Amino acid sequence: LDGVALDRIQAGQAGGLQDIPGRSSRTGPRADGVESAHRKVGVVMVNPQLSKAGAGRRPLVVGNWKMNGTRASSVQLLSALRSAEPFDSDVSVCVPFPYLGEVALTLQGSRITWGAQDCSHLEPGAHTGDVAAVMLADFGCRHVIVGHSERRVHHAESDQRVADKAKTALSHGLTPIVCVGETLEERQAMQTEAVVKRQLSAVIHTLGHCVSQIVVAYEPIWAIGTGLTATPEQAQAVHAVLRAQLAAASTQAVDMRLLYGGSVTAANASALFAQSDIDGGLVGGASLKANEFSAICRAASAAVHESLGKSKT
Ligand code: PEP
Repeated sequence: LDGVALDRIQAGQAGGLQDIPGRSSRTGPRADGVESAHRKVGVVMVNPQLSKAGAGRRPLVVGNWKMNGTRASSVQLLSALRSAEPFDSDVSVCVPFPYLGEVALTLQGSRITWGAQDCSHLEPGAHTGDVAAVMLADFGCRHVIVGHSERRVHHAESDQRVADKAKTALSHGLTPIVCVGETLEERQAMQTEAVVKRQLSAVIHTLGHCVSQIVVAYEPIWAIGTGLTATPEQAQAVHAVLRAQLAAASTQAVDMRLLYGGSVTAANASALFAQSDIDGGLVGGASLKANEFSAICRAASAAVHESLGKSKT
């Protein structure tokens, strides 16, 4: 983050981006490199009138526990989540590998599904320290996150490597949640659209029409774990770009779920999930608190009802 953003966090002004270069403005030209889809020429448009419910997109909220918790705290957290069920949205938790067995047992009989935060692009073999997608399937995983920025950055994962992971995950019946997102510097340099399109393009080329089977998570890196959230309008603008790109590759893009991630909380979830191309969230820090995560899941459930209401009028 730049000095401005850090100052804002320290001053307790998290959540607002008004002063950060690159923030969209209602009156001026966009300064983040994301053109609003409706102003574009030659972009495949998704019918904006089609509600989420009309398009058959059930919201999905995924908790990314990252490298947190203990066996005991995981069970405690899931038990608390179970007592908050049922949710009208789909809910999943992506947990550290060693906890998968216990999580699978704790969630037996629940509608909450589970998954992992990464997998190898390779099949089982001599790959010390890696975890194969088929092993995750063996633990009953439904999802696996691939291409999280913390892996792209700290483990030097290329766009193609992420795409290969998504392909391997799909081939074992897992749904990859493919993360894309720009750094603050890229946003300020008006590169947001170019960056996310480049990241998604590798996946589209590798998966072909099967790309419709993935979930995409737009996670601006400057919003992850910082308390700075993209505004609903900023997030929606990027989601519209991504859906248009997917629509050029698959006729089923309208049914695909695109999640927003980056400091989602109970306080900002409803406004984000109300956006027409945002179908839920990938939630880090807030997914470690049962009450907060349940409230986010309820916000997604409310988006289902809101959407149903709109499609009736
Ligand atoms: C994430 O790591 O995927 C994430 C979105 O984290 P946070 O919600 O803490 O910003």
